[in-house]
Amino acid sequence: MSDTDPTTATDDTLRTPIVAVLGHVDHGKTSLLDKIRGSAVTAGESGAITQHIGATAVPLNVISEIAGDLVDPTDFDLPGLLFIDTPGHHSFSTLRSRGGALADIAILVVDVNDGFQPQTLEAIDILKRTQTPFIVAANKIDTVPGWNPNEGKPVQQTMDAQSDRVQSDLNEKLYEIIGELSDNGFSADMYWRVQNFQANIGVVPVSAETSEGIPDLLTVMMGLSQRYMKEEMEIDTTGPGVGTVLEVKDTQGFGTTLDAIIYDGTIRNDDTIVVGGLQGPIVTDVRALLRPRPLEEIRTEQEFEQVEQVAAADGVKIAAPDLDDAMAGAPIRVIRDRDRSEVIAEVEQELAEIEVTTQEEGVVIKADTLGSLEALSSTLEEEEIPVMRAEVGAVAPRDVRVAETAGEPTNQAILAFSVEVLDDARDLAEQEDVELFEDDVIYQLVESYDDHVTAIEEAQQ
Ligand code: GDP
Repeated sequence: MSDTDPTTATDDTLRTPIVAVLGHVDHGKTSLLDKIRGSAVTAGESGAITQHIGATAVPLNVISEIAGDLVDPTDFDLPGLLFIDTPGHHSFSTLRSRGGALADIAILVVDVNDGFQPQTLEAIDILKRTQTPFIVAANKIDTVPGWNPNEGKPVQQTMDAQSDRVQSDLNEKLYEIIGELSDNGFSADMYWRVQNFQANIGVVPVSAETSEGIPDLLTVMMGLSQRYMKEEMEIDTTGPGVGTVLEVKDTQGFGTTLDAIIYDGTIRNDDTIVVGGLQGPIVTDVRALLRPRPLEEIRTEQEFEQVEQVAAADGVKIAAPDLDDAMAGAPIRVIRDRDRSEVIAEVEQELAEIEVTTQEEGVVIKADTLGSLEALSSTLEEEEIPVMRAEVGAVAPRDVRVAETAGEPTNQAILAFSVEVLDDARDLAEQEDVELFEDDVIYQLVESYDDHVTAIEEAQQ
């Protein structure tokens, strides 16, 4: 690995800030991440950015190359930024850890033409709840009539230089976003007018299409991390690792594996770990730690290389026995030189902190990650819809059995958020008149359930 790899540090050091990208579907999260990765590849010599499991690390020297004269690398002692690669609903899970936030900072992507949409509001709720500092990327500025491409200059300079008419077109849209932020309890302004990014949300106009504003965005991210998060980011990269499960999945040759982010300490290939599972903590021994091979090395079937250890902040695929019940969004802790029962108790405690309240009667909810389960549960609570059972994972026949006995007809329902419904569960639900609702968007899921309730109530009158 090269000296610029932010993940190879071994002493007490500042870890790479972890960045999540959130926002409404189609507002440009994936495009923005791709553009940042693409710019990093173009800017650095090949191999300068490192592809990780579930994340991309962009080192400081590459950031300063992209940002040009906006970022002087000598002003920073952070190694770079680690972007979590799974935007969209998975971000719910990636934002959790120890009842706080896994991501240190977030980018909330808002389409300038579309403004705030339901998933923007969902994201804002999560950012508030986890107290994650964030900036707003006001995306798609290239689509605003009259906008002139700016040949890579910072957007601020371009906006100042452009004609009044263009400025007012874009300004109007940007001020709508600032207004929406203020309606949601945040004080916000254009990023170049914000002095204190902790007290105020900075809005950065960008285009994931033309790359305009990306230098500005990275500059603000670096400044935000450096100024306000330094102390929290001092870590001992040799201590027992602490992380969060991003995904539980089958990997050929390794059985059920975990894609995880390690945000503190180190995980080694001979460690015993504790992982949050459906039935409580799972204690197991690491069998292998896997990372993607550099592209030029991929020839045949072996996509991954085994490594001896991975230090924070980094993504890794963990192979170990007994992971079938592990939950996305759950904590992972390395035992190593710590007391086993203490570590298990910590994981138990962390699982208990996840706020999902259930009652004796109510609907069944299933979600893909603990974080999304929590988000769905809190929406239902606000709408006073009772929940009887809440679990991570696919909808199985036993969920239908539970829903069947749920009391009121309106309760005989399963709300499935971003999870699969097993075929036998679907058949059983049809037989037993249990209603299935499936969606990848919380508000749409709850809306279709509401419509169903209204229909039942009307039929009863
Ligand atoms: P996501 O659902 O938030 O990940 O959104 P995507 O990144 O998939 O983008 C949705 C659509 O918007 C795609 O067709 C993109 O090509 C387009 N798009 C994203 N960013 C921009 C932008 O800055 N300018 C323009 N013109 N189109 C964009």
